[in-house]
Amino acid sequence: MAVNTSINNQVVDGKNSIDYEVIIIGAGFGGVRMIYDLQKRGISARVFEAGSNVGGTWYWNRYPGARTDSESWVYVLTFLEELGVQWRWNERFPTQPEVERYVNRLVDELDLRKHMSFNTRIIAAHRDETNNVWKVTTSNGSTYTCTFLVTATGPLATPLKPPFPGLDLFKGEWYQTGLWPKHKVDFAGKRVAVVGTGATAVQVIPIVAHTAKSLTVFQRTPNYVLPARNHPLTDDQVAELQRDGKTVIHRARTSSFGMDIPDSSLRLTDTTEAEALRVLEYGWEIGGFRFIFQTFADMLTNQDCNDLAGEFVRNKIRSIVRDKDTADLLCPNYPILSKRPPLGHYYYEAFNRDNVKLVDVKNNPITEITPTGLKTSTTEYDFDLIIFAIGFDAVTGTLAQIDLRGSEGQDLSMQLDEHMATAYGIMVENFPNLFMISGPQAPFANIPVIIDNTADWIGRTISHMRDRGYTKISTKKEVGREWRDKVHAAFNATVLPPGAKETKSWYIGANVEGKRVEPLFWFGGVAPYFEECEKELTGGFPGFEFSRDSQREAVRKDNVKESKL
Ligand code: NAP
Repeated sequence: MAVNTSINNQVVDGKNSIDYEVIIIGAGFGGVRMIYDLQKRGISARVFEAGSNVGGTWYWNRYPGARTDSESWVYVLTFLEELGVQWRWNERFPTQPEVERYVNRLVDELDLRKHMSFNTRIIAAHRDETNNVWKVTTSNGSTYTCTFLVTATGPLATPLKPPFPGLDLFKGEWYQTGLWPKHKVDFAGKRVAVVGTGATAVQVIPIVAHTAKSLTVFQRTPNYVLPARNHPLTDDQVAELQRDGKTVIHRARTSSFGMDIPDSSLRLTDTTEAEALRVLEYGWEIGGFRFIFQTFADMLTNQDCNDLAGEFVRNKIRSIVRDKDTADLLCPNYPILSKRPPLGHYYYEAFNRDNVKLVDVKNNPITEITPTGLKTSTTEYDFDLIIFAIGFDAVTGTLAQIDLRGSEGQDLSMQLDEHMATAYGIMVENFPNLFMISGPQAPFANIPVIIDNTADWIGRTISHMRDRGYTKISTKKEVGREWRDKVHAAFNATVLPPGAKETKSWYIGANVEGKRVEPLFWFGGVAPYFEECEKELTGGFPGFEFSRDSQREAVRKDNVKESKL
């Protein structure tokens, strides 16, 4: 007789068994990677997704110009070669439709859609400690039970609502980039406003500029916009990438930020000033984040090096933007990477167009939306269409949308707000059997590479439990405390904290009124992070505790007995 490999044999609320061993929240890259891993291990699982299809970020953020800021060949899930490194991308930085197609193709080829429920938002998940289950409630009122819960909700999935009074009376069209409609939005002949100049706005602006009658950009804080230098991938380039596929992924997994960018070993003090400028020029020309990671090893830790890079970018802005006042307004003046730098696709060049105007709202904020446009504290403007690209309540914001309660009814958001301490961004004290993909204090890096590792870690952990008859995993208090200390130490070892605070950077939560300001990410590098996670798996999980519950243990013993007969 076959061994029952399930760990969910029990009676809960009068039902003979729980509904799923694992419930996964979200069908973006994280949810897709996780469900694949679990079904491969023979573990019953279901994904619940608020949208009508897979894709997560790449489902919701379908604004014009949306594309990755990671190079396509590492913006893949690497668990299956033919659907990862062997994927044929068209461009260095693929567009939103191309990434969305990739996720859909993955799901179809692996036949994963049958494990997913769409148009179903999870609104609550409560821990029932007596029965060792999670009780999950959906927006349409259904409830399900599961042994393990995985949040794959994405780090940037809760767009901030436009906070301006009067929006409901605006007679024109308005859109939010993070909730962009599926239908085509026409800008031709319209007076358009874009509020915000973060990574999203930087992608939208040059596209809208081409067709709008006029485009007015409302900027509060300028960014260091690095040229992407996007290009189509030739067949030869693709062939080379595919041939070296495994090496490419190895390089990404061992680089600081999960990209196929070799970390520089050059320090500013190793160079003369002329050489240093040549190195930065190379970084600027080669494009993307290579300007930061492939130039100087100490750009984020040495103020002089960071200052030099900042001045270099300001000089570039002044050399591109013809109007001196506009160029001055576009020049940031804080350490580079204190805010996540956007990649530009002819962003600064857009301000040389006659139909594009920049308005500084730093000291002259937008006060209200009027029926015909918007008002700052000094001026009134008329628009036909307004685009809000004002950012996200990052990482914890999306978890806070779910009423997540722990062993003794603890509220996850309150707990994290009072004391953000996680085990490697994956688990939290008081919340047994809850795993997070891209959780708080996970690495600041190219996200698919982190997702691959975390989903693999969760799958292996659940397998480890199943093989030993464990039904519950909890984090030890110390592991959260230690990881928190490391996360803070890694961030404080850089020159970034004062600038991140001053410029209200989202990666420390400073862009959201009332949110506690502290690093939401691990800045200590991908490879050391993977080592920490692997040490747990191979070292007998020193940071965690496992237990069995007696009812399930009896079933397991019976199964083992039967299998011996
Ligand atoms: P963001 O970087 O937080 O930018 C939001 C922008 O809106 C900022 O310029 C902000 O000004 C402005 N803003 C917010 N409230 C405002 C107000 N009341 N009045 C005027 N301006 C206001 O958000 P995002 O552009 O959506 O990007 C967030 C992150 O998403 C990025 O950093 C990136 O990690 C990710 N992203 C990735 C890609 C990609 O990989 N391709 C593309 C887009 C986004 P302040 O700076 O002064 O707060």
